Amino acid sequence: MSIISENVAKVKERMHQLRPEGGVKLMAVSKLRTRIEAEEAIAAGVDCLGENWVREAAEKWQNHPPIPLHMIGHLQTNKAKAALDVFDTVDSVDSEHLAHALNRRVADGKILSVMVELNIGEEPNKYGVSPRNLVKFLELGEQWPQLRFDGILTVLPKLVDESRQEIEKVRHLMKETAELWRICKSEGFPWAPLSELSMGMTADYEWALEAGSTQIRLGTILFGPRDYSSV
Ligand SMILES: *Cc1c(COP(=O)(O)O)cnc(C)c1O
Repeated sequence: MSIISENVAKVKERMHQLRPEGGVKLMAVSKLRTRIEAEEAIAAGVDCLGENWVREAAEKWQNHPPIPLHMIGHLQTNKAKAALDVFDTVDSVDSEHLAHALNRRVADGKILSVMVELNIGEEPNKYGVSPRNLVKFLELGEQWPQLRFDGILTVLPKLVDESRQEIEKVRHLMKETAELWRICKSEGFPWAPLSELSMGMTADYEWALEAGSTQIRLGTILFGPRDYSSV
């Protein structure tokens, strides 16, 4: 067994321990990884792939992978059309402007599955809708008939250290996110079924599973550390 498939197997075991009832999707985040590496993760049984940049994904996936390909990075509106040619879903809708652009670009008669990106920590350097604007943002969904909001995606603040206080802060934000997700779902907007909560990365996925995430997005723990020198 290759190291990548071993890593996938280990994570799946952890998922099973923490969420024995199942229903959680494992996304392999393959940015800055080769197609061969990503294909090993696919063979090991991940549910979907995530990529952060349109150009990298378009080059890597000229042949579409056999599992869904999700856009999870910040998308500039002028790349909306190119993104739709490559990705099955855009999980990083972080502004009205982008929602408009995507809605306009989806082919007639088609519906694009998207997620709204939530900036739960209200970090100034992060994209995403702030928690206090989330319901209002989803209300606007009615004006984008070609988008269906299938979930909420969030990236938690990075731990500044491993202290209990820091860990508690992040875990608390995760619980808040799950609560907000429930509130938004209960609004019952027909254009926003919000069945998914995409939360949890290498550093925090176990807590995310405990908080009720339905989709974890893992890169480093599956493939090893990324080399950003080429970016
Ligand atoms: C890169 C990335 C991930 C994966 O991060 P790891 O810490 O390597 O698991 C997950 N989500 C988003 C939005 C990312 O950009």
